[in-house]
Amino acid sequence: MVNEKQPLLEVKEVKKYFPVASGLLQRKKSFLKAVDGVNLTVQAGETLGVVGESGSGKTTLGRCITKLYEITGGEVYLHADGRTFAVSKLKGDDLRAFRRSAQTIFQDPYSSLNPRMNILETVGEPLLVNGIAKGKELEERVTEMILQVGLRIEHLRRFPHSFSGGQRQRIGIARALVVNPRLVVADEPVSALDVSIQAQILNLLQELQDKYQLTYIFISHAMSVIRYVSNRIAVMYAGKLVELGEKTELLTHPRHPYSEILLAAVPRVAERRMLRRGIPMGEPPDMANLPAGCVFVPRCPYAKDICKAEAPQLRPLGSGSFVSCHRAEELELKGIKGAAM
Ligand code: SF4
Repeated sequence: MVNEKQPLLEVKEVKKYFPVASGLLQRKKSFLKAVDGVNLTVQAGETLGVVGESGSGKTTLGRCITKLYEITGGEVYLHADGRTFAVSKLKGDDLRAFRRSAQTIFQDPYSSLNPRMNILETVGEPLLVNGIAKGKELEERVTEMILQVGLRIEHLRRFPHSFSGGQRQRIGIARALVVNPRLVVADEPVSALDVSIQAQILNLLQELQDKYQLTYIFISHAMSVIRYVSNRIAVMYAGKLVELGEKTELLTHPRHPYSEILLAAVPRVAERRMLRRGIPMGEPPDMANLPAGCVFVPRCPYAKDICKAEAPQLRPLGSGSFVSCHRAEELELKGIKGAAM
């Protein structure tokens, strides 16, 4: 990816393969390629939306970036707080410093909080574990943080079960931000919440981004959410990045047939256009049995012989767009009209 400024994050040829046993005696070993050679950069202060169906590799990629998973190949570089972290090599003090700079907000606010820890302990734990603060200073920092996320001082000594889903996600956000990170990977942060609460949490994340100059990687299966929060959008399919571009450009002029399908499923335009154009959604791929050539062939209404023979590479198309499709220049795909986001 070409960028004049040094990016905050560089993801270079990152792979994450999981071993899978099969055969009668479970002796045959193969690999599920959850993330397979992803390259991208993220600039400080931007929000990169990563979108794809379940199993596309987006959550695995987020976990590779924050070292919740060890990567199988490639490298992730975080340039933050005057340092460069080569994520796969981090240990000891360097790993602790990295954990201060890169944090994750998880999908499920119910299961990501320890029911035996009150909010002071929950939000204060990263400060304690990373040797940043303890005692009175810790309590002051936690108090300031929970006020910033819209909770109150009297919540400090309550336990997670006494909070609503939206409040629990606010606690999860406070826990991630209390160490003052530069990069935050938000993995489906609103998908477990009622629709009425989702907008509140999305607005809160944007306010906090401005206040603390945060950089977000925002992961979601829903293009309707991604288009609301992102500056650029990365589309993943079967472990690969298939399209990357500026938000408005990608929404109005998608270049990959899979992006067109995701956009056709956005509420408001979905029903009308899918009936008119007959865009079939198709089934998510069998990751253990991907086709040769382009992995999207079985679902692609535009596939030709070359698609079955050769895997397309991610390549620049101008306007900051990158796409992996043999036919990207000739196809006229439908986006969202008047996408004034
Ligand atoms: Fe469809 Fe071929 Fe493009 Fe793959 S390369 S998305 S099969 S047109």
